[in-house]
Amino acid sequence: MSTDAHEHQELRSAVAALAARCGPDADELWAEAGKLGYLGVNLPAEYGGGGAGITELAVVLEELATAGRPLLLLVVSPAICGTVIARFGTGVQKRAWLPGLAAGTARMAFGITEPDAGSNAHRLATTARRAADGSGDWLLTGRKVFISGVDTADATLVVGRTEEARTGRLRPALFVVPRDAPGFTYRRIPMEVASPEKQFELVLDEVRLPADALVGEEDAGLQQLFAGLNPERIMTAAFATGMGRYAIGRAVAYARTRQVWDVPIGAHQAVAHPLAQSHIEIELARLMLYKAAGLYDAGDDAGAGEAANMAKYAAAEAAVRAVDRAVHTLGGNGLSTEYGLASLITAARVTRVAPVSREMILNYVSHRTLGLPKSY
Ligand SMILES: Cc1cc2nc3c(=O)[nH]c(=O)nc-3n(C[C@H](O)[C@H](O)[C@H](O)COP(=O)(O)OP(=O)(O)OC[C@H]3O[C@@H](n4cnc5c(N)ncnc54)[C@H](O)[C@@H]3O)c2cc1C
Repeated sequence: MSTDAHEHQELRSAVAALAARCGPDADELWAEAGKLGYLGVNLPAEYGGGGAGITELAVVLEELATAGRPLLLLVVSPAICGTVIARFGTGVQKRAWLPGLAAGTARMAFGITEPDAGSNAHRLATTARRAADGSGDWLLTGRKVFISGVDTADATLVVGRTEEARTGRLRPALFVVPRDAPGFTYRRIPMEVASPEKQFELVLDEVRLPADALVGEEDAGLQQLFAGLNPERIMTAAFATGMGRYAIGRAVAYARTRQVWDVPIGAHQAVAHPLAQSHIEIELARLMLYKAAGLYDAGDDAGAGEAANMAKYAAAEAAVRAVDRAVHTLGGNGLSTEYGLASLITAARVTRVAPVSREMILNYVSHRTLGLPKSY
């Protein structure tokens, strides 16, 4: 495993160059990245993707974030939705979605979080049942919150539950819900996060979907869900490490030139050491991120699960600290709009709580890795 393989260096430079030459509009960057094949680098070549892995998609997002231009929907559209459809979709679903997701001309949001479930996915209450008319159609009812990018997505991949015929137990299942489906409404949630991608509350009121809106098997939903959630954690780690690199880069540039005594402020160890600490923390998180991506690309879902959780944890903590230290390095300018760092304070914290919170990862490691008993 290496984060410095020659082809990755080329990919890194090319993505950084794209971010530098593209205007400030996120849609323009998305479209250009799609044309150049970066958005679907992980998707199968036979459906218009790059035929590479989540490693390469993480490289793309990390470099965009390092340039200060992260595209949040990369975490969702090609990484979660594209992966799930590529691995478990029918031929029809793959042909319908993958070429567009790869080119960036189609986008898909991902909806799992619910107001009364949050971190506890076992409480998901969005339920799908078959229509009584024998058509095979599904009727999907429930509510979702904090779903990113629904307004620009052609459809949302919604995690619902179906009733197992034999036992009556509810099992997770994934449904493609088009944005214009009757009974599907969305409302923007005001957030204090400076990001082009917005968050939405979704209401699904008996949304009627054709039988083939179900992605994958009705009774293998959990395994399929996790196939998408590991890439989500890996990509969030890429988002966070890139944001951390961006913040530290800005702080270092400032500390080299800002002078209020006889030397630049970066010569004071009280300024330099926190930046050095953050650099180390980010590099350590990157090692775990590319370890997780390598395991995932090698087909080791179980090994990737643990590593992806640890990488997301380490990257988020590193990013939150890096942004805090960077803002402080700039003194008053750190909190000005002009220098653009203060808005990262909330953005970095998003990676600490989403898509899975710091505490839920600590719980995972406590129980799964260390074998400690559960409190909940
Ligand atoms: C900007 C943003 C974008 C998002 N985008 C999406 C999206 O596109 N799709 C989507 O589905 N979701 C999305 N989310 C939702 C996100 O995944 C959830 O916010 C996250 O999973 C936490 O759920 P919650 O907010 O309900 O918190 P809760 O589950 O209510 O948790 C609140 C606090 O309690 C702690 N806690 C809960 N249970 C335990 C426990 N057992 N032990 C210890 N501590 C515990 C948590 O760690 C957390 O600190 C987004 C969120 C944000 C902020």
